Amino acid sequence: MADAYMDLVGSGFGKVLAKQLGLPQPPKLRRYQSGEPIAPGPVLLLGSGATAQQLADVLLGWELDVRRHFTDNVRYGAVFLVADSFESPSELGEPALEMGRALKTLAPGARVISLSKQATEQDKPSVAAVRRGLEGFIRSVARELRGGATANGLFLGDGVDGHNASLLGAIRFFLSGKSAYVDGQFLSVEASGSTVPDVRTLNYDGASAPLAGKVAVVTGAARGIGAAIARVLHRDGAKVVVVDVPAAGDALTKVANELSGTALQLDITREDAGDVILKHALGRHGRLDIVIHNAGITRDKLLANMDQAKWDSVIAVNLESQLRMNEAFLAADLQGLRIVTLASTSGIAGNRGQTNYAASKAGLMGVVAATSPALEARGGGMNAVAPGFIETEMTAKIPVATRAVGRLLMPSLMQGGLPQDVAEAVSFLASPEASGINGQTLRVCGQSLIGA
Ligand code: NAD
Repeated sequence: MADAYMDLVGSGFGKVLAKQLGLPQPPKLRRYQSGEPIAPGPVLLLGSGATAQQLADVLLGWELDVRRHFTDNVRYGAVFLVADSFESPSELGEPALEMGRALKTLAPGARVISLSKQATEQDKPSVAAVRRGLEGFIRSVARELRGGATANGLFLGDGVDGHNASLLGAIRFFLSGKSAYVDGQFLSVEASGSTVPDVRTLNYDGASAPLAGKVAVVTGAARGIGAAIARVLHRDGAKVVVVDVPAAGDALTKVANELSGTALQLDITREDAGDVILKHALGRHGRLDIVIHNAGITRDKLLANMDQAKWDSVIAVNLESQLRMNEAFLAADLQGLRIVTLASTSGIAGNRGQTNYAASKAGLMGVVAATSPALEARGGGMNAVAPGFIETEMTAKIPVATRAVGRLLMPSLMQGGLPQDVAEAVSFLASPEASGINGQTLRVCGQSLIGA
């Protein structure tokens, strides 16, 4: 979508003027392009212990230039902090300060990634202190980075070491341009009972097709984020079924034709929507591996002015339809089904004028956590992606001034995201590489202040 401000401050005279006026100058994000190296420079790997050594070996196997200590005059493309063996806060200082020195010469679009354990009630207080301390550290590093660099973290579940395929899949996602608009976020990786691809078969530049042979359904795919998701799933090798309301039929057919997929005109609030989708996917393509619940609507009003129709329609489309469809998918007993739903940062922090929408989107995070175990028992799983401010027709309806604030001032990355940014996260979570990541909500928001 055209963005006059981004165009102005991004080039020539406008860039100079913006600098003189002290206006925010959004960095160019490093987005995924096939064939690009996974990291834009040498990798500095800080921390000690078995996981650090295992990871160093793996990264070398990916033909990355891995350094274990900081040296001057290197433009690092990534900095890892492996802290899963840390037991007291005193262990954090040395690698944190070493990281700090490397941040001065980071390459544009560089990545900072931590590997640690999540604090639990069973931890000794000093262990919990360093574990939680690291979270605050990484989130603050993310706010200090410039040039489109990001910082994110991975929590290692019990039995997850530096060779775990899901961990390596998540590392590849965070390292690559696919995570361009994911910033200040943590994902937990558990040892997965289901089959994950052998590390050696994971082509980290994404040129291989991680979803080859899979059939994926995307709802609300006639435009916006849904169409972008359909395109990325197709790029990643899936056969795609695109779903939207009959009124969007022409646009839907275009998307289906472009992707050699099939179109299904369906209002997802229909009682039998799940069965209609199953019948189409199994009848036309013989299987169903991935469902992306993307269709969603807003009917914004302050609660004091909210009428029943506005409330009910948002809950019906965004939440109740998904509950019904999930029941149908579970009843069909599909093996390995992975579901990703679109939540929103409004559902995390709340948003003025969006009580109905925020209730529906927060509700979805509850649905994800409560539904995933049943899918995991069948070798699948469910997660949510919570986009922040993404440039689409939905956000184009927001008043200009509010839009400028949402886009520029709130997120660390000083810009709205693109539908592609959400689509990359969705495709990753839908893939077998993410089989150790379940029941979670990943924010794709450029570290927006909304939702903290
Ligand atoms: P959009 O309005 O551009 O597209 C939504 C699509 O869903 C449309 O094609 C619409 O026809 C379809 N749809 C609506 N009701 C339907 C129904 N009953 N049955 C079938 N299809 C239906 O929206 P978008 O900006 O692309 O957002 C996609 C998803 O991402 C939504 O769930 C939205 O809540 C979520 N999201 C968007 C943003 C953002 O900044 N754009 C932020 C957070 C979350």
